[in-house]
Amino acid sequence: MTFRDKYSKFLDDIDPQFMDELRFVPSVGPEDAKVMMIGEAPGANEVEEGEPFVGRAGNKLNDILKDIGVKRKEIYITNLVKIRPPDNRDPKSDEIEAWAPLLEKEIEDVNPDIILTLGNFPSKYVLDTSKGISQIHGRIFTREGQKTMPVYHPAATLYDQSKTPDLEKDLRKAFGKEDTGQQKLSDL
Ligand code: URA
Repeated sequence: MTFRDKYSKFLDDIDPQFMDELRFVPSVGPEDAKVMMIGEAPGANEVEEGEPFVGRAGNKLNDILKDIGVKRKEIYITNLVKIRPPDNRDPKSDEIEAWAPLLEKEIEDVNPDIILTLGNFPSKYVLDTSKGISQIHGRIFTREGQKTMPVYHPAATLYDQSKTPDLEKDLRKAFGKEDTGQQKLSDL
């Protein structure tokens, strides 16, 4: 069943001012995924390809996942707001409010072992906090009995390279792929 079919009731009923078929991007990934990633909102590349995290930020995410030995196709990837905000502006609070019930339904349906919130917007919404991502990234919180870890948004690491090691470290922790410092003799 497609995402659209599965959540047709929500998608048919959402206030039309918050829906635009031409800017809508459905979530991807197994419905029984152990890890769920929640981004902010799709960008232009995502709309074009009809999948979250396929632009520059997505490539950065893919690179890190590859480095730490995690298969992207095993992750359920979604966004807090599922339509692209015009001119790539931040999502507005009424947009977040309108789309949040769908995210809640996805969390309930997938019931992952851990939720990773990427960047400020989904972290603040999911954890119901005003604390910024630099203060809370990499820590595991319990939200309605479910483990949740906020991490830097991969786009933020494109603008500030110094955040890349933090994102990698946090993702390693979330996936149980901690860097042990082990080296290969063949690399020396
Ligand atoms: N940034 C997001 O937050 N979500 C996407 O799907 C792509 C970029």
